[in-house]
Amino acid sequence: MAECLFCRIVERTIPAKILYEDEQCLCFADINPQARVHVLVIPKRHVTSIGSATEDDSALLGHLLGVCAKVARDQGVADSGYRVVTNVGQEAGQSVFHLHFHVLGGRSLSWPPG
Ligand code: 5GP
Ligand code: ZN
Repeated sequence: MAECLFCRIVERTIPAKILYEDEQCLCFADINPQARVHVLVIPKRHVTSIGSATEDDSALLGHLLGVCAKVARDQGVADSGYRVVTNVGQEAGQSVFHLHFHVLGGRSLSWPPG
């Protein structure tokens, strides 16, 4: 989608600090990090959120979660602990409407989230 910010990062028309990629996904540093480690894990194919994912996306969603765990290991927070978050819709604070998992770690994270 030409007007989608994260599709443009996938196309490399907008720069990002890319940490990992494979055929299905791209991982890059959040531009406004909320923790020492704050990485976004996105599918290369445009999906708006998990709310619009279908049965056909099940393998992709599973793959993305596995990559979140890999990113946490690579960033050195697998043992200390980390959080994987995906915001869906307005009240959850979704601001970019291309599915992304936030991987947050490197500090103590409070619960419940705000
Ligand atoms: P959301 O609020 O939709 O759950 O998360 C969107 C995230 O994308 C935010 O954490 C925000 O800081 C990040 N973000 C927004 N624009 C850019 C950008 O141009 N580059 C990068 N790397 N991250 C961005
Ligand atoms: Zn997109």
